[in-house]
Amino acid sequence: MRKYQKDYNIPDNNCPYCGHYVDQAMQENNLCAPGPGDICICIRCSEVAVFDDTLRLRKPTQAEAKEIAADPYIKSQQKIIITVNAMIKIKNN
Ligand SMILES: [Zn+2]
Repeated sequence: MRKYQKDYNIPDNNCPYCGHYVDQAMQENNLCAPGPGDICICIRCSEVAVFDDTLRLRKPTQAEAKEIAADPYIKSQQKIIITVNAMIKIKNN
């Protein structure tokens, strides 16, 4: 069971897909702050971005995108975000 989560401050960012403003990232296992090459799943659009060397978010390279697409855990996390966003939308209507 993954029970430790912590938010880390990161440089001001915008999701490279939807433009959502991001200045914090949650590191699920709480081992360390996000670093270059780590992925970030947007809480608005659920797309997967990658932290560059200055912790700015960028779209994955083709090789990274292939690796991300093959990762069932990332897919499960995206589905959770999509489901929660849909529930919030229903609740607010
Ligand atoms: Zn986004």
